[in-house]
Amino acid sequence: MGSFHNVINKIRAIYNNSEGFIPLHAPVFNGNEKKYLNECIDSTFVSSVGKFVDRFENEMAIYTGAKNAVVCVNGTNALHLALQLVGVQQGDEVITQALTFIATANAISYCRAYPIFIDVDRDTLGLSPMAVKKWLAANAEIKKGACYNKVTGRRIKACVPMHTFGHPVRLDELIQVCVEYKLELVEDAAESLGSYYKGRHTGTYGKVGVLSFNGNKTITTGGGGMLLFNDNVLAQKAKHLTTQAKEPHAWEFSHDEIGYNLRMPNINAAIGCAQLEQIDFIIKSKRETASIYKEFFKELDIDFICEPKDCRSNYWLNAIVLKDKAQRDEFLKISNDNGVMTRPIWKLMSRLPMYKKEQKGDLENSIWLEDRIVNIPSSVIF
Ligand SMILES: *Cc1c(COP(=O)(O)O)cnc(C)c1O
Repeated sequence: MGSFHNVINKIRAIYNNSEGFIPLHAPVFNGNEKKYLNECIDSTFVSSVGKFVDRFENEMAIYTGAKNAVVCVNGTNALHLALQLVGVQQGDEVITQALTFIATANAISYCRAYPIFIDVDRDTLGLSPMAVKKWLAANAEIKKGACYNKVTGRRIKACVPMHTFGHPVRLDELIQVCVEYKLELVEDAAESLGSYYKGRHTGTYGKVGVLSFNGNKTITTGGGGMLLFNDNVLAQKAKHLTTQAKEPHAWEFSHDEIGYNLRMPNINAAIGCAQLEQIDFIIKSKRETASIYKEFFKELDIDFICEPKDCRSNYWLNAIVLKDKAQRDEFLKISNDNGVMTRPIWKLMSRLPMYKKEQKGDLENSIWLEDRIVNIPSSVIF
């Protein structure tokens, strides 16, 4: 495959003709990160109290247009808490996509609930409203105002779509299905900071939306996450649960339920504030890189994943669709052997040992994409 060497050369050209290793997604710290970290250290406020925590929450709420934002130690824990907040309980079932990062499924398991793996759409790479509707029509019934699985008898409580690589799912249609079947919508927006569906930021459509600031995400706090709400009461409950459910008091320690220690430390929030100051540039750079890739792959007759209709994507991780698994494996080998990091999309959740017995729908698109999708370098270029 001579053209694969063209691809590698093109990627090197995009990344300033670098001859060294090109990672998939490296963080960049070109702003006030060090300044704000020094402020934390100089003030001794490095931990669970400090001005950057509140500032990061306020600024992220403004950026996303969410009414409230609550920081968390990471995205996985934020997802777990989000499911708990919408009322997912032990023994419930939760619908999600088969093609996702493991954290989505694990968060459901942490609630002692059961995931149901449904197919994705080929264009959005995210949960297919049609497939969800079809599965529910065959397997679910509404009883006493709630949705029940006719086969297992369990309650189906929530639906968790994930905006894969930053490309928004069909939210309008999913919301319709959730309303019809009385499911709570929780958006796994870990990959989609800076992505919009019909002009509104992803993660603000569901009852709760979750962001991640892991080192490989669009912006990073080292490790971190955020819950987004349009509901003061739910946001306050989240704040309470992430801070040991401590009742506010100047010196007394009293706790009114079983809470968690999930608050993001001030030093992480400090990095987040500095990163958020640069977000417009970061998204612009990522979209420019995507548009260069798009033109290039058009000429090579290789499918490049573009933002869905009516959406504006952050292009967190760029992705191409190869002809089949053999071609995919060949490309993975040639690129990684040549110091250009690429990687296949995740293995389907329904294939993993701990999840292979769970219920699933017809996964035709997921299986097709699983064999063909490869992520290519997507770091911000300064
Ligand atoms: C990164 C990611 C998470 C979890 O984020 P962490 O902050 O690493 O815990 C959850 N879901 C998806 C889809 C992700 O990509």
